[in-house]
Amino acid sequence: MSHFAKVGRVPGDPILGLMDAYRLDPNPAKLDLGVGVYKDARGLTPIPHAVKLAEQRLVDTESTKTYVGGHGDAAFGRLLLDLVLGTGNRLEATGRAGATQTPGGTGALRLAAEFIASNLPGRGVWLSDPTWPIHETIFVGAGIKVAHYPYVDATNRLDVDAMLKALEQVPKGDVVLLHACCHNPTGFDLSQDDWRKVLDVVKARELLPLIDFAYQGFGDGLEQDAWAVRLFAEALPELLVTSSCSKNFGLYRERTGALIVCAADAEKLTDVRSQLAYLARNLWSTPPAHGAAVVATILGDATLKAQWVEELEGMRKRVADLRRGLVEALQPFGLAERFAHIGEQRGMFSYTGLSPEQVAKLRTEFSVYMVSTGRANVAGLDFSRIDDLAKAIAKVC
Ligand code: PLP
Repeated sequence: MSHFAKVGRVPGDPILGLMDAYRLDPNPAKLDLGVGVYKDARGLTPIPHAVKLAEQRLVDTESTKTYVGGHGDAAFGRLLLDLVLGTGNRLEATGRAGATQTPGGTGALRLAAEFIASNLPGRGVWLSDPTWPIHETIFVGAGIKVAHYPYVDATNRLDVDAMLKALEQVPKGDVVLLHACCHNPTGFDLSQDDWRKVLDVVKARELLPLIDFAYQGFGDGLEQDAWAVRLFAEALPELLVTSSCSKNFGLYRERTGALIVCAADAEKLTDVRSQLAYLARNLWSTPPAHGAAVVATILGDATLKAQWVEELEGMRKRVADLRRGLVEALQPFGLAERFAHIGEQRGMFSYTGLSPEQVAKLRTEFSVYMVSTGRANVAGLDFSRIDDLAKAIAKVC
């Protein structure tokens, strides 16, 4: 008897499939706008110098590889709270906020899902439509009922009115997942005014916000990108935030992130954190140490931190300039207005508004690879290739 006889095959991640097709494409002028990682002018995903320097320091000073505790590296937790909630923030000072180190932002989301499933039974989780596909599978996988609120309209524009209208109908007490900045996959972010309106609905419906913060520093800047998180943390007694150090520290494979909890008081925070440590123990025992040690080394040292901030600013500005450059390059084809949103969106991703047929044509005729929904990773572009891309887009439009 075969124990595995009835095991079927799960289709591969479409983005990874796209990467495979790209690798096999012999066209030297191919362009990968698919996978969501930052790339520099050489097409490489660099290790920031600040990370290299911190790693060198760790090689010299690290004295043990014994387990870190259930909440991870305490210095990392403290410094990350400063980064996310603001240095000297009131919540930290009054013991109302804590960070639990996780394997990346994905681990933080998984831990949040397990916490909701086991401690807030019956609560649904509301996701933007569209959202990062892994949100869907993480919460469904934890046995949670998942529902959606609209985010973009049929003309590929952010639709805040529809979002607010839908949130007003969400059952009291449910969880609403919001992207802090650099919305994946659309690149459309809420304005400060929009965030205030969402906060009003969250209060009125007594919802629990879960803010996914995977791109701090890639939108308008480190502090600016945290504006909405800080607004919610100040205004609400309870909040969950998942923070990722994958993109902003270039630590992707080191699996570095945290689940941040804000509770009504220090006593309740301790209760919630005891649950998180218990759940994490069953998921991954203790988190991987290296990435968090690197982040703590950088954030805890003024010189290294200044270097990292400068490098992160460089990445952020490069993507913003690529966005503007592409819109300008579309001008001679009379397409600048139609694609003006690419310049207005934030972060690496752009919902271009290209149809699946146009995306397929870009791939077969020009070896330009992007997700069939029309999502392009702008960071995969280079200034030397902007005109080629604009020409290719003009040909398929
Ligand atoms: N959330 C969003 C919206 C993302 O796009 C990503 C990564 O692509 C993550 C979370 C998770 O990041 P990681 O687990 O690599 O830290």
